[in-house]
Amino acid sequence: MLLGATTGGRFMTNTARPDFAALAKSLKFRTQAFINGEFVDAVGGEEFETINPATGEVITKIAECDARDVDIAVAAAKAAFEDGRWSKLAPKERKRALQRLAALVEQNSQELALIESLDNGKPVDDAIAADLPDAVETLKWHAEAIDKLYDQVSPTASDLVSLVVREPIGVVGAVIPWNFPLAILAMKVGPVLAGGNSVVIKPAEQTTLSALRFAELVAEAGIPAGVFNVVTGFGETAGQALGRHPDVDCLSFTGSTEVGRYFLKYSAESNLKRVILELGGKSPAIVMDDVDDLQPIVEQLAIGILFSQGENCSAGSRLLVHEKIKDRLLEALLEHFKTWNVGDPLVEGTRIGAVIEEKHMNRILGYIESGLKEGGRLVCGGKRVREETGGFYIEPTIFDGVNNAMTIAREEIFGPVLSVITFKTVEEAIQIANDTPYGLAASLYTNNLHVAHKVSRAIRAGTVSVNCFSEGDQSVPFGGFKQSGFGGREKSFHAHDQYTEVKTIWMQLK
Ligand code: NAP
Ligand code: MG
Repeated sequence: MLLGATTGGRFMTNTARPDFAALAKSLKFRTQAFINGEFVDAVGGEEFETINPATGEVITKIAECDARDVDIAVAAAKAAFEDGRWSKLAPKERKRALQRLAALVEQNSQELALIESLDNGKPVDDAIAADLPDAVETLKWHAEAIDKLYDQVSPTASDLVSLVVREPIGVVGAVIPWNFPLAILAMKVGPVLAGGNSVVIKPAEQTTLSALRFAELVAEAGIPAGVFNVVTGFGETAGQALGRHPDVDCLSFTGSTEVGRYFLKYSAESNLKRVILELGGKSPAIVMDDVDDLQPIVEQLAIGILFSQGENCSAGSRLLVHEKIKDRLLEALLEHFKTWNVGDPLVEGTRIGAVIEEKHMNRILGYIESGLKEGGRLVCGGKRVREETGGFYIEPTIFDGVNNAMTIAREEIFGPVLSVITFKTVEEAIQIANDTPYGLAASLYTNNLHVAHKVSRAIRAGTVSVNCFSEGDQSVPFGGFKQSGFGGREKSFHAHDQYTEVKTIWMQLK
């Protein structure tokens, strides 16, 4: 996803950077599901462990919800929706409540960032600089929009009135991934609640803790019980139950393309609920031979593939570079990669933390293996590091000599692994860029205005950034072409449209 803050300034906070390692020891976690305004155990009484990827240690155990808990949460969300405690509240009242929530998230951002880092493995300073401001901005933006959206009166004959109005869709189920847990949660919750809907969220099993702390803040903000619910647990059980639930009116999913497909099936086999999918990517970063200063470009390329350990859906994982400047660019990139140190996520200055879990680390290492087998030339990285910590760390890795047919150029690795592919002409660059089942994002570096226009139009992707990576904020839509997305766009008024129904009302006048 595009975090606007990744290339912007640090999160404005009045307090100095605390000793996060010391703070971590005193943290108390919420570990139960949040249903109808209360923290509750799973009906079955089961729990699962959540791990700190930086150490491999168990942080705590969390309630393992299944279809029974989902039934209770959906019933609570439906009752809240139907009695209008939120859905029929005056827009300015909903606005105030969401603004209070945004303010509470902002006030608690250091704690939330720490929770995020412990649960996900990302550098806490990244969470402070990017995830938290993004979540706050999302909530604020949608809160402010609530009482500024007008419906329409259509141009009819004078004895008719025709209104085109937007109404909340009802109960929204949201199933989300582990890479930006709170930022993505806010991206769902902001427009969903702004629209007057109720929501049941299923966070990724690896990163549940920030959603539960957020739930406390939802209650503190005065958002009525039943409007916001969190069912904790696994995708195949709790996630599937939400996807198939007859009283869920819309299912908004962010995650892998593989799992996204299931939600279309769940919908088809249940109540034809609306399905919105934000999926994976294999985004190209294209560097033309007309560029002059390489330094700002290598900095952007590094952010593109290394930020968030490469666990970023819009990661620029394929570097398409004109053959004339490849050697120079690669040399500068190798030098710059050295400034991206892998380290303890809680220590100031760490730029790359741990990847989410051991299984995922091994998956990334498997891709590195395949790159070597298929003839890629490993020019840096390629190994697990900091094994002595018990955590799951991978060095920044570059493969040169890649062609677009290799596995590492086709599949989403979701790690700090960059594939370098050369091209000779603009046409060839466009052809390689589009030769992928994905279409989430792309970056283009050029000094030529004609090339900038031509290539940005020709690329089949939801976001194309010229001479930058990841410039996005709440005012612009975000989503994917092809197998990177389905059914809508996040952010901006487009997100609001996703969670509302359009109704036409005809009135014959006497
Ligand atoms: P994932 O494996 O697809 O999981 C996402 C969510 O789906 C999790 O909550 C997961 O639960 C649940 N799930 C898994 N199997 C399920 C099933 N059979 N039925 C219902 N729910 C199921 O994705 P991830 O590994 O968490 O995240 C990485 C992926 O997300 C990447 O492909 C990335 O590109 C994509 N992503 C896309 C965007 C975007 O905006 N386009 C943003 C961020 C990430 P568990 O907890 O059990 O796994
Ligand atoms: Mg975890």
